[in-house]
Amino acid sequence: MLDTRNFYINGNWVSALQPSDFEVLNPATEEVIATISMGSPDDINVAVRAARAAFPAYSATAKQERVELLESILDIYKRRYDEMADIICLELGAPISMSKNSQAAVGIGHLEGFLDAFRSMDLLEELPSGDTILREPVGVCGLITPWNWPVNQIALKVLPALATGCTMVLKPSELTPLSAILYAEILHEAGCPKGVFNLVNGDGPTTGASLSRHPDVDMMSFTGSTRAGSAVSRDAAETVKKVTLELGGKSPNIIFADADIKKAVKRGVLTCFYNTGQSCNAPTRMLVERSIYDQVVALAKTIGESQAVGSPAEQGRHIGPLVSALQFQRVQALINAAQDEGAITLIGGPGKPAGFEKGYYVRPTIFSDVNNEMRIAREEVFGPVLAIIPFEDEEDAITIANDTPYGLAAYIETLDAERAKRVAGKLRAGQIHINGNDCEYGSPFGGYKMSGLGREGGRYGLEDFLEIKAVARYA
Ligand code: NDP
Repeated sequence: MLDTRNFYINGNWVSALQPSDFEVLNPATEEVIATISMGSPDDINVAVRAARAAFPAYSATAKQERVELLESILDIYKRRYDEMADIICLELGAPISMSKNSQAAVGIGHLEGFLDAFRSMDLLEELPSGDTILREPVGVCGLITPWNWPVNQIALKVLPALATGCTMVLKPSELTPLSAILYAEILHEAGCPKGVFNLVNGDGPTTGASLSRHPDVDMMSFTGSTRAGSAVSRDAAETVKKVTLELGGKSPNIIFADADIKKAVKRGVLTCFYNTGQSCNAPTRMLVERSIYDQVVALAKTIGESQAVGSPAEQGRHIGPLVSALQFQRVQALINAAQDEGAITLIGGPGKPAGFEKGYYVRPTIFSDVNNEMRIAREEVFGPVLAIIPFEDEEDAITIANDTPYGLAAYIETLDAERAKRVAGKLRAGQIHINGNDCEYGSPFGGYKMSGLGREGGRYGLEDFLEIKAVARYA
């Protein structure tokens, strides 16, 4: 068992001011894998003080110096890559092949995306009037990250903060703190100056909230549920902090009759199940044109049945458990609600898959004959659960797709390029995938409506960590 009770503050590993232990579990076995400390408001005070003290010198460093810091992080991250993949597999339950190919890989992809964008970014601009625009670091940033893509979220916040000259305090999810501890070790080895990056473990309502409320924090960047995102905004409002939020989703996947139907259904089902359905941009509502509805339902059933569940320790394309007992209960509640409201269970249903009594495993589940008013169509499930909904024509598809409180991502499947463009323009979502094509690293990621505020990744992600100063021409 790892003893990971210390926090990383001002360049040192230090003990919590008030001992408060939390046991981290392996979601596949329910065994304790580590003990961490839960930070108190006093720990947050010390970390924020360190970040504040480091800000004047760090914000004044040359852009090239910060580029070199990011390059050094990239080198060390690559060297410790396998360790990172193993840790995410252990704490999240992400199957090892997926952890290596995706969960750990995004740490490199985002870093390269930020480096490309930052190298070519002008921090000083002259307006036609002769006034000058300066882009300056926001200041001390509070970063709160979830457990579902732990390094993805850390990279999307820590790297732009470092690049732009901000200093920071990170509070990762207490369910997946080990990847954050390894990330802190990488930053330390890369030569991140003392106090620039600080890590305090803990829970949301205590440790997280004391960060959001702290008068000496200038900006909060949060990823997680819409409920917690609203709490962060309320807590930050008192001291008028800048707030960016990356929240939940209920993303539509519109399959038109003119799509490559087999490919569309296969990637729709498998993308929904990926990471055991624990992705904010998962295509959880499959909207299907009425004329191909029966065909799609039959295909989805066959593809869904082929999705294996298995141990994260084994190589392969299976899915693992959910992250926690609480997530297991939430997913069960929504599966039950769908059945109560009359959705047809094509595969799966409540309970655990046969042979998986230990661990937070769920049965991959597909519902057909869902309508957009059912809870299964409106609420984020965060499990391998797909809802299939029929539509009549293009206008109907767009109406159903946009009829959601969320607006994070949307997926379109059609072989008509004009239609793809037309529909993409009408969807109220921050990222549109077409025929299985994802946006590249460096493209902005973020939501409309209750899916959030701000954008992460590349140039747009850097801009969120910058203040804009206008300086009048000298006369
Ligand atoms: P939360 O949003 O509660 O947790 C995410 C992070 O926010 C954690 O570090 C959490 O700490 C922290 N947090 C929670 N409440 C506060 C608060 N008041 N102030 C500051 N920080 C806070 O997600 P859950 O883990 O409870 O998952 C619930 C649902 O949220 C999921 O079923 C899913 O639908 C959605 N979700 C969405 C994610 C996304 O990527 N958009 C990521 C994770 C979840 P703590 O764990 O102690 O509460």
